[in-house]
Amino acid sequence: MAHNFDLVIIGGGILGTSLSFFLSNLNESKQIAVIEQAPDVAFHTSGRNTGKVHAPYLYNPGKKKMFAKAAYHGYDMWKKYSEIKNLPFKEDGVIEVSRDQKGTKILEKYLIWGIENGLKEEEIKILTKSELKKIEPEIKCHAALQVHRDASTDYSILTRSIMKDSKQKGIKFLLDTKVTDIRNKDGKWKITLNHEHEIFSNFIINAAGGESIDIAHKVNVAKNLTDVHFRGEYWKAPKEYNNLTKTSVYSVPEFPDYPFLDPHWIIRVNGTCEIGPNAVPVFSPYGYKRSENIKEFIPKILEMLGSGARKAIFDKQFQELAINEIQSSMSKSAMIDRVKRFLPKIDTDKITEKGTAGIRSSVIDENGRFVPDVVLIDDSMSFHILNYNSPGATGALPFSVHIINRLIENGYLRNEKEDSECGPWRFSDIVEKISV
Ligand SMILES: Cc1cc2nc3c(=O)[nH]c(=O)nc-3n(C[C@H](O)[C@H](O)[C@H](O)COP(=O)(O)OP(=O)(O)OC[C@H]3O[C@@H](n4cnc5c(N)ncnc54)[C@H](O)[C@@H]3O)c2cc1C
Repeated sequence: MAHNFDLVIIGGGILGTSLSFFLSNLNESKQIAVIEQAPDVAFHTSGRNTGKVHAPYLYNPGKKKMFAKAAYHGYDMWKKYSEIKNLPFKEDGVIEVSRDQKGTKILEKYLIWGIENGLKEEEIKILTKSELKKIEPEIKCHAALQVHRDASTDYSILTRSIMKDSKQKGIKFLLDTKVTDIRNKDGKWKITLNHEHEIFSNFIINAAGGESIDIAHKVNVAKNLTDVHFRGEYWKAPKEYNNLTKTSVYSVPEFPDYPFLDPHWIIRVNGTCEIGPNAVPVFSPYGYKRSENIKEFIPKILEMLGSGARKAIFDKQFQELAINEIQSSMSKSAMIDRVKRFLPKIDTDKITEKGTAGIRSSVIDENGRFVPDVVLIDDSMSFHILNYNSPGATGALPFSVHIINRLIENGYLRNEKEDSECGPWRFSDIVEKISV
């Protein structure tokens, strides 16, 4: 193993791996490593999500322009990449339903946002209840938003392929390797791996997902921020439900002020169906099992009580939401009933198998408020990507270009090749598309 690197990316999720892909094309002479504690890339959230390549209709262009742009262009980029590599990508669209007049008003707002975020009028439209009935007879709703530019994929497969490309261009992937300590030593980072080995790097990119706040705190960055973790659980539907609807169905969220949606009816890229995810508060970014949550309970509670999260957990609406979600974790029927409101044909007794849960880490500010957008922090020897949540997988490729371009503009990185080809794309073309 080389012990000196020019740049180290912490986190081999879809974001860290996508960053490495573009860096491998721009900086061939540099020693770059991706450090991932799990045995494979996309082992955590990036490989445990709903697998949708989202159309950007849920994002207010006034507040989340960059995220919306990344989702819009991410769709085209993953589509092209999947075609070239023969990877799963199904353009199957999505339907978002409202259950009452208030919800329909929200759908109307989504329609406007979708168009402002780049969707063409033929790609997104509102359907009345009776118009929807003709297409999807089993769905019960007040109205629906039909979006054609939405797709299904398997992000684990996409991330592994991106890793393979990056490795071929010289990026080192250190798997099963946890960053356990980081210190500034004589103007370089001394990074301890698995409590025993040491490497050195001039620069760090923190793409550590649910641990990105902890990594930032280790180097004295973002001390005013903390995070709360939510486990999104899924239930698998039996084969007989594979044709219950033609497309996946989402519903207008009950608590739109919080950064997660209500459980959906999901058609996966392989044609199987699932219900989920909910958002159950847990104590670790890897709190899939009770044992991990018990281990992290006391440290996380102490951290929350000493930070802005204290205000969030004492907030009445947050408590109501948390109780709702915990109920939906403890009782299968409480979760499935939320989907039965718009798909009444589902028989809860026929749903017996759990799917793979994924964990979302939401950043909370010093006032106890959920930070609505991604947080990017430049420091002289490090760059931190915090709160990189949905639709993070959709936008990972263009978002990585945005970050690398920012590092180039700020003088932290150099683009060694003018107008570089990065796989099937030209770097400067993507920069132009996503500039806001
Ligand atoms: C339930 C759920 C459903 C979702 N559905 C969708 C969807 O349908 N479409 C969509 O676009 N987005 C979806 N998302 C969002 C999307 O999955 C995330 O935005 C994206 O995966 C984040 O990628 P990441 O690389 O930042 O994080 P991660 O995938 O969490 O990767 C970070 C990596 O860093 C590693 N790491 C952390 N600390 C260390 C350390 N100290 N040392 C070494 N390694 C470390 C971790 O092991 C991890 O593998 C969903 C999210 C959830 C939770």
